[in-house]
Amino acid sequence: MKTIGVLTSGGDAPGMNAAVRAAVRTATGKGLNVLGIRRGYMGLIEKDVFPIDLRDVSDIIHRGGTYLYTARCPEFRTEEGLQKAVANCKELGIDGIVCIGGDGTFRGARDLSERGIPCIGVPATIDNDIACTDYTIGFDTALNTCMEMVDRLRDTSQSHERCSVVEVMGRGAGYLALHSGIAVGATSIIVEEEKCDIKNDVIDRIKLMKESGKQHFIVIVSEAIGNVDRLAAQIEAETGIESRATILGHVQRGGTPTVRDRVAASEMGYHAVELLSKGIGNRVVAERKNEIVDFDIFEALQMKKPFQNELYKIAHKIST
Ligand code: ADP
Repeated sequence: MKTIGVLTSGGDAPGMNAAVRAAVRTATGKGLNVLGIRRGYMGLIEKDVFPIDLRDVSDIIHRGGTYLYTARCPEFRTEEGLQKAVANCKELGIDGIVCIGGDGTFRGARDLSERGIPCIGVPATIDNDIACTDYTIGFDTALNTCMEMVDRLRDTSQSHERCSVVEVMGRGAGYLALHSGIAVGATSIIVEEEKCDIKNDVIDRIKLMKESGKQHFIVIVSEAIGNVDRLAAQIEAETGIESRATILGHVQRGGTPTVRDRVAASEMGYHAVELLSKGIGNRVVAERKNEIVDFDIFEALQMKKPFQNELYKIAHKIST
């Protein structure tokens, strides 16, 4: 192993830069050359790479987004695209790649590893929806952003005695909704993983709380559920409380990464290069019970992540 590539792919997440920095510094410390690959797998297909030295990653640990850029690359999902990427790696002298992203990125890393280019996946997505790991880079920053935004909504919702119905991201997963919902003291949290009867669990709850003196309400809805406008209209019609829908959207992806994300990214980026430098590929770095471990990519992609049902129940009980 003489030269490694580093790429970020799929949805951006705060902390990706910290992972790139850790990977670059670990590699240069071992005397390896590093090539930055721009726009994920697109950069491999288009040979859009540039040498990175240890000083080039100064001043990026605190920046959100990814300075390597990211993209979605449908061509990489075809055999022709993969073969082009493999040929380009050989031509550019790339002996292994650190692939920072979500499970789509890991599928790409698996396909490349199977074709002779060892790759290590580093989990980075604000959704925390990767089964093999307890934690994904970006989750904590996104949660704090959700919390801050909803705290602001709370001020106006309290002043007008309204109900705020807020959609948070998460793709198919409800972790962002659950954790931010708890953090903002939401009246109800609606996620795909848990049954929710709108009449029982939202409307009647709000009515009951109103009777006991509560004057404003926050309902957090996971992206997978959607339809916050319709839900707000229904709440208003059935409770008589003025209700407003807000979709937080891409604001949740940005911002300065938190300590949690910078530390996780640094550890994971380091671990990825430790593996690659030993010639090990086709692995995903993960955090399990506060320890950094790694799994075969194929096995990691088969795993199922259990939802935190107990935490959901607690949230329900304490928001009365
Ligand atoms: P994320 O990594 O955040 O889950 P995507 O699902 O968009 O984001 O995947 C990022 C990129 O990974 C895709 O644009 C594509 O280039 C590559 N990719 C995704 N799925 C596959 C697959 N099944 N096989 C090969 N490459 C894939």
